[in-house]
Amino acid sequence: MSGKDKRPSDRDLGMDRDIDRRDFLNGVAIGAAALAAAATEAQAADAPFAQDRPGYYPPERTGMRGSHPGSFEVAHELRDGKFWQTAAKPEDIDTVYDLIVVGGGISGLSAAHFYRVAKPDAKILILDNHDDFGGHAKRNEFHFPGGRMELMNGGTMLIDSPRPYSAVADGLLKTLGIDPVTLSKQCNKPEVYRALGLQGATYFDRETFGSDKLVVGGAGRRRGSEGSGLKEFLDQAPLTDKAKAGILRIEEGDVDYMPGLSSAEKKDRLSRVSYRDFLLNIAKLDPSAIAFYQTRTHGEWGVGIDAESALDCWGLGLPGFQGMKLAPGSAPRMGYTAAGYADGGSYRFHFPDGNATIARLLVRELIPAAMPGTGVENVVTAKADYAALDRKGAPVRIRLSSIAVGARNIGEPANSRGVEVAYARDGNVFRVHGVNCVLAGWNMMIPYLCPELPQAQKAALHQLVKVPLVYTTVALRNWHAFRKLGIQGANCPGGDFTGIQLNSTVDSGSDRRPSGA
Ligand SMILES: Cc1cc2nc3c(=O)[nH]c(=O)nc-3n(C[C@H](O)[C@H](O)[C@H](O)COP(=O)(O)OP(=O)(O)OC[C@H]3O[C@@H](n4cnc5c(N)ncnc54)[C@H](O)[C@@H]3O)c2cc1C
Repeated sequence: MSGKDKRPSDRDLGMDRDIDRRDFLNGVAIGAAALAAAATEAQAADAPFAQDRPGYYPPERTGMRGSHPGSFEVAHELRDGKFWQTAAKPEDIDTVYDLIVVGGGISGLSAAHFYRVAKPDAKILILDNHDDFGGHAKRNEFHFPGGRMELMNGGTMLIDSPRPYSAVADGLLKTLGIDPVTLSKQCNKPEVYRALGLQGATYFDRETFGSDKLVVGGAGRRRGSEGSGLKEFLDQAPLTDKAKAGILRIEEGDVDYMPGLSSAEKKDRLSRVSYRDFLLNIAKLDPSAIAFYQTRTHGEWGVGIDAESALDCWGLGLPGFQGMKLAPGSAPRMGYTAAGYADGGSYRFHFPDGNATIARLLVRELIPAAMPGTGVENVVTAKADYAALDRKGAPVRIRLSSIAVGARNIGEPANSRGVEVAYARDGNVFRVHGVNCVLAGWNMMIPYLCPELPQAQKAALHQLVKVPLVYTTVALRNWHAFRKLGIQGANCPGGDFTGIQLNSTVDSGSDRRPSGA
């Protein structure tokens, strides 16, 4: 390695051992010598790893459940160039898979599904660094005395896309038995909260607005005037008179702030200013009102209104544009998400555990023993058998708490004779071989797994950084405080958490939301 080129070599990756002796043609044969040198799958993977032990059930765990402790440290060491300095010597595993998938989220599980459709006898190994499968589409279970279970999405909230689902994605949902349009009609129960008279609210905090105050209502004309009107809401808000008048105009006024320009010209101009600049400098909103809007974009983009274009905020339905006669539909210079929603978006449906149901249905398809029952609705209440995920001899195996640390072609990529994937688990490093490999993990980690990639491709992959998005789920034995306040949730524009919400009222199969007063 030269001083200039700090790319890890194969030796650094622990992947320098000669593997030419293996013949991956047709994806079946493996030399006897290799077998002799390798640990058996039983030794390497059927040791008493946590997921095989009785009582292992991650959906019930609490605390940090996204990138939880134990899931990311190895990745950080790899990034910092430290992992291979202290890593255990990789141990070869004897089984050769037709496909190795890195990442057990919806993408990785779907890759395994489609591969099995094309090759029903394929042997597939799925590796994931977390203690649970599903990637972002996980779930949290809360169990109450009397056997009642409350479910929450542990990340991904709902079936919803800025663009209509592709034929492939839509087809997969159908294959899994999911019909979002019918399910929405049958299962969504918004009337539960409505019947109790619960409204939205805003919590104004002292640090941002000068006093701590919960003000109920304020949906206003723009959002379908259910509950208290905006004027009554603003009358109670700890805001200056100028701020109140400005908010009323932004939310309900019909002002064209760019008279004389065509719709296309307005859209172009709006694409070149932030929403904050639009409010302040074009709509002339009083600066004291900005805090009311500053975090409106956090939930979608993870950044404030100063970092999002006004046009994208129009696409997402933020207020202030209703008098500007903007033609419906996306325009050049819009972001992918906002442009998609401006063009109509997709169908939507929220399972009680978010998109974890999709991941669980895929797991049931791949490893029936791991997900008891049949049908979409009953998968919601099914208790997964984690010990069945990685059974010896099974055609599909999902190995948790196993982080891929290296992946490479055997031979030149153009004439590859298979792939070799190294992964770390419980302080050990294993090396497994396959005919094919799908990297369905996180893009920004791929340059560390495949250091031989061209620089330009690595630079592009590095750009795909993630924005932290934190959901906290709390199980309440008694939620009557919400009823007494008359609220279903509240925006908290100055808070560390920018909103609080009662669970969605969705019934699915035997999973029923409580609806009592
Ligand atoms: C909080 C949150 C809310 C979201 N809400 C929605 C929503 O409502 N609707 C929607 O459609 N989308 C939503 N998304 C986007 C969501 O990420 C995608 O819809 C989808 O679930 C992504 O699936 P995936 O398999 O591509 O990636 P992921 O779900 O990220 O799965 C990839 C898996 O690979 C693992 N992995 C990465 N690197 C390695 C490695 N080296 N070795 C082993 N494993 C590795 C990851 O840890 C992860 O478990 C949300 C995302 C988040 C974070």
